Amino acid sequence: MGNSIHKSLFARLPAIIGLDHSPEKYSYANTEEWGVIAKEKTAEKWVRTTCGYCSVGCGMYIGVRDGKAVSVKGDPNHPVNYGKLCPKGLAEHHFLNAADRAKFPILHGSRVSWNEALNVMVQQFTAVQKKYGNNSLGVISTGQLVTEEFYTLGKLVQLGFNTRNYDGNTTLCMASAVAGYKRSFGSDGPPGAYEDMALADCIFLIGANIADNHPILTCWLAANENPNKHLIVADPRATKTAQLADTYLPLKPRSDVALLNGIMHLLIRNGTFNKEFIAAHTTGFEEFVRSLEAYTPENVSATTGLPTQVLYKSASVIAQAKALFVGWSMGVNHSDQGTETVNAINNLCLMTQNVGRAGASPFSITGQCNAMGTRESSCTGSLPGYRKYESAADRADMARLWSVDISEIPDKRGYAYPDIIEAIMQGEIKALWVIATNPLVSFPNQKFLKDALSRLEFFVVQDCFHPTPTTELADLVLPAAVWGEKEGTYTNSERRVSKANKAINPPGEAMSDFDIFLEIARKLGVVEKIYPGWRNVGDAFDEWKQVSKGRLCDYSGITYDLLDKVGGVQWPFKEGEDLSTAQSPRRLYGDGVFQHDDGRAKFFPVENKNMPEMPNDEYPFVLNTGRTVEHWHTMTKTANVEILQKLSPEAWVEMNPTDAERLGLKQGESVRVVSRRGSIEKIALRVTEIIGAGQIFIPFHWFKTNANNLTINAFDPYSREPNYKQAAVKVEKAE
Ligand code: SF4
Repeated sequence: MGNSIHKSLFARLPAIIGLDHSPEKYSYANTEEWGVIAKEKTAEKWVRTTCGYCSVGCGMYIGVRDGKAVSVKGDPNHPVNYGKLCPKGLAEHHFLNAADRAKFPILHGSRVSWNEALNVMVQQFTAVQKKYGNNSLGVISTGQLVTEEFYTLGKLVQLGFNTRNYDGNTTLCMASAVAGYKRSFGSDGPPGAYEDMALADCIFLIGANIADNHPILTCWLAANENPNKHLIVADPRATKTAQLADTYLPLKPRSDVALLNGIMHLLIRNGTFNKEFIAAHTTGFEEFVRSLEAYTPENVSATTGLPTQVLYKSASVIAQAKALFVGWSMGVNHSDQGTETVNAINNLCLMTQNVGRAGASPFSITGQCNAMGTRESSCTGSLPGYRKYESAADRADMARLWSVDISEIPDKRGYAYPDIIEAIMQGEIKALWVIATNPLVSFPNQKFLKDALSRLEFFVVQDCFHPTPTTELADLVLPAAVWGEKEGTYTNSERRVSKANKAINPPGEAMSDFDIFLEIARKLGVVEKIYPGWRNVGDAFDEWKQVSKGRLCDYSGITYDLLDKVGGVQWPFKEGEDLSTAQSPRRLYGDGVFQHDDGRAKFFPVENKNMPEMPNDEYPFVLNTGRTVEHWHTMTKTANVEILQKLSPEAWVEMNPTDAERLGLKQGESVRVVSRRGSIEKIALRVTEIIGAGQIFIPFHWFKTNANNLTINAFDPYSREPNYKQAAVKVEKAE
């Protein structure tokens, strides 16, 4: 679809979704007070950038006055959002001026110079590594840095500190999508584009509450003009997204594989699968078909709690769709069967040839603004450019590109995030460097985590906020710049690379993460070896482009100038490509050639498994955790935004009216929630039919009422992603 049609879908959105931008609607009384406020908020200049919250990747401008960020507005020409922003995006500039921004390096509670801070860090890390081995240093980063910084950090960890034990907090959110794509298609990389939501006949969302968590994607749904389009939403909780559905499937927790297998069983039974495509482009179909035999509508109904007629109807809608878009998010990934659930989604799309075509794709909806960037360019789950640690050819390629001996490139990845924590507990990892993440809110089973971190010999946290629950435990805090204060690129969920630009200076002595990495390399004596001649992120971008060249995630044709001109470009975009196609949607696997060595995609038989902790008489509820539209992750940013705090000031627990009545609990009263691992002592009760009987829901953002006191440290065997979505708990009146 050409860009003009693409844009026109959005032009009609205000009417479609009932927004009224007319000046009369928003005229204010011309009071003196308003005049003062308006002047303070009137930008002297606007700096084009990309939203730093979620992976939707909306284009925006930051308004600057007297060196301060005073406003934001949507970028009307950006091909993701065409000027629209969600509540978080609209208030994004506020956190830049927060009182708890980290401004100076802090060593054991006292302010020190950068020189002293980095000398101590390098001394401590190298001393630990000398005593216990190189891999006794662990590094945990984030999805919040720019791609140039991820690439720079990967080189520093691999070639400077020579430890393999490096991972991102992205393992807590998207690792199962990555592992699922790799198993099915031979590589990470979401195949579709947002536009596919506007072009599909059937949009099937599984465990994806986009109305709260990726709000601008609902505009792509609204832009679908097909009068017969059908939205199916499968979610145990009747979320805002479920309330938009043509067919809502309120399945029982941990029955999504059964649902998918049940639908595929019916498609096989009715012969609605693409034999030619399967024969020409896939392997493993016969064994996969055999694995579906037991998933009859009756059996699936018993597992999912959905009536058989609903299963027949859903299968029929999917069978009739010329283009099927299957989107998923944390409801799928936050499971110890997440990877296999992704494989089941991919199975469905492969058997119906819903991949690589307009409107047709399996599609992971990522979490953080640049979770994709770290997946592509860093040295966590893969080598840069989706190269495999296990492949001798890929290691040789990396060694050539980096001008190092192949022995410096490891032949398997190090520990994933949860295994780094376990290795600290076991005394194998002794020093830890955490960058732009806050595990003291976000990691499951907080008791276990705190115990592990207390065993470290040296703990460094690099963050743009201090204090946070995590920086308070650190020996050394390094103050970092954040979105709006530095430049680089973000890649969104549809593989679109957009530029984030610097609008203002960071506070105090805070430096960009890029500059911090270069300074550390200097202290280690490796700066010229690993960053030859580098001065700024543009140098890192140039090298990354060469490293990505010829790979699936080919950036070689993307330049900062092009991004400034068009707002965002999907990879692959190869050197020499026609620039006029830069904004057009790009899809992977349209030629039926996948990234496995034989060029074929793989079917995987998947069995529905029980959740790791089943409810019983003592802990009778299944806890579901998630997010709310007003807040971001562990609230380091959004707790500083008054309007968001007013909209959503505290956490809550949702309970079905039948359960509340049985327990004698009332709307709004304080309750205590307890699991085998910990408790929340006081949290407000919401009695609502949004949640089914026997389940409760708690948003995880708040530290004082931290849902991760309750969650279980059970992890997906392939991706190592935590099972955040189900834990057995009890609820009682608070003291
Ligand atoms: Fe930012 Fe995501 Fe909201 Fe867009 S949808 S404005 S990227 S938080």
